[in-house]
Amino acid sequence: MKKITKLLVANRGEIALRIMRTAREMGIRTVAVYSEADRLSPHVRFADEACCLGPAPSNQSYLAADKILAVCKKLGVDAIHPGYGFLSENAAFAKQVQEAGILFIGPSPVSIEVMGSKLAAKQAVAAYAIPLVPGTDEAISDVAVAKVKAKEIGYPILIKASAGGGGKGMRVVESEAEFDEQMNRAVSEAISSFGDGAVFIEKYISSPRHIEIQILGDQHQNVVYLFERECSIQRRHQKVIEEAPSAVVSPAMRKAMGEAAIGVAKACNYYGAGTVEFIVDEHLNFYFLEMNTRLQVEHPVTEMITGKDLVREQIWIAEGRPLSFAQEDLTIQGHAIEVRVYAEDPKNNFLPDIGRLLTYRRPQGAGIRVDDGFEEGMDIPIYYDPMIAKLIAHGATRQEAITRTIRAIDDYQISGIQTTLDFCRFALSHDAFQSGQFDTKFVDRYFRPEFLEPQFTEEEKILLAALAVEFFEVEDKQVNPTTPLSPANTTHWTNRLT
Ligand code: ADP
Repeated sequence: MKKITKLLVANRGEIALRIMRTAREMGIRTVAVYSEADRLSPHVRFADEACCLGPAPSNQSYLAADKILAVCKKLGVDAIHPGYGFLSENAAFAKQVQEAGILFIGPSPVSIEVMGSKLAAKQAVAAYAIPLVPGTDEAISDVAVAKVKAKEIGYPILIKASAGGGGKGMRVVESEAEFDEQMNRAVSEAISSFGDGAVFIEKYISSPRHIEIQILGDQHQNVVYLFERECSIQRRHQKVIEEAPSAVVSPAMRKAMGEAAIGVAKACNYYGAGTVEFIVDEHLNFYFLEMNTRLQVEHPVTEMITGKDLVREQIWIAEGRPLSFAQEDLTIQGHAIEVRVYAEDPKNNFLPDIGRLLTYRRPQGAGIRVDDGFEEGMDIPIYYDPMIAKLIAHGATRQEAITRTIRAIDDYQISGIQTTLDFCRFALSHDAFQSGQFDTKFVDRYFRPEFLEPQFTEEEKILLAALAVEFFEVEDKQVNPTTPLSPANTTHWTNRLT
């Protein structure tokens, strides 16, 4: 067993801070790396030591493996935590780290590699009786054969890139007539985005929920599941609200999904923290989608309901310790919800809205956790993912967690940029969310940008009209038209109008 004494976090923003906080509680010294754009970031100030990697673009900073390894050598670092994104699922990097005699806080390079390919993952789990979406388990090489298979499965079907990620590289095919065209597009998209043209087909689940299982495995063949996270509220195939537990998962379904997730982990000799993603149809049949071999953005909801610090567990596992608890020791305590606060404009198709955080005040109070990486006055850089913060609320029941999250959204004060907070308030207040009856189509089905415009009752409209009249009367008295307009008065008006 190797004791970690100095940890470098190869990441930025909220996740870098979140990891370093746990490391500090464990008595481990922390090293931050940063790009020129992040010079003033809280994660840089929090760390015991910090090193600039270079210019803002990720390939010259957070993805520059050699520079990161050089910092490790210079500062005597004995472990690297990659966070999520950037180098976290890069098998070659994990290998390079190991070869440099440094602990990589994550699974083995082989596990990363197998699970990084959707086809290799399907093949690896074949021996474990894991339910898979009906489809092909090999790359399509003969279009005619693929068409026969598609007919068997039944349209609509989905063409997916084996190397795909982040919701990219997928094409829905409604009928055989579209097959060739969509196939050609999928292959060229897969080559241009991932440098790998391998595609396969899957039945298209028309009303799917995205439910994932958190697992933890040690290096001594013990694997446990820490229940599920419901991640069906998505925009552009990406999660924006997550909760644990799911409103529709029964104890029997939870056990079945948990055991399937353990099977997936065993299929690739997994150790570390990992997430097994499932797609769930309207009859609550679940199918394995893929495994993410890292800490997830939404891991805090699992921490809130299990009382476990997943980063501490990751560190202990990397040091070689056996898990300190068994499956029977884990229970679900209450309910947790996370809303992701992105610098995006929900009224404009959720496009990034980059700028300065003119006002930034976090909500507080019992059961509230805010993981963020920014402070008031800071600019949100254009170079990276535009997530500003994660707001997580815990309650004794689902309803209490919802009410608490909405209260905290109301208390969150952000100005200078648009965020997803108003959309999240809309979603949490919607009957579909409250009843638990929703799927990944929530945004298309229920959301319209105009719902975020301020809504006034008739009484409020009358009151606002009265206030407007009074305002202009006061202004009239201050700028008396009989008095010649002085420069001061002109400025006064100009200021009021801009
Ligand atoms: P990625 O690696 O790009 O995240 P996933 O396989 O995890 O790809 O799928 C991302 C999202 O796409 C899922 O959360 C789900 O909303 C949708 N999706 C994936 N597979 C299917 C399917 N067979 N039918 C319907 N929707 C799917």
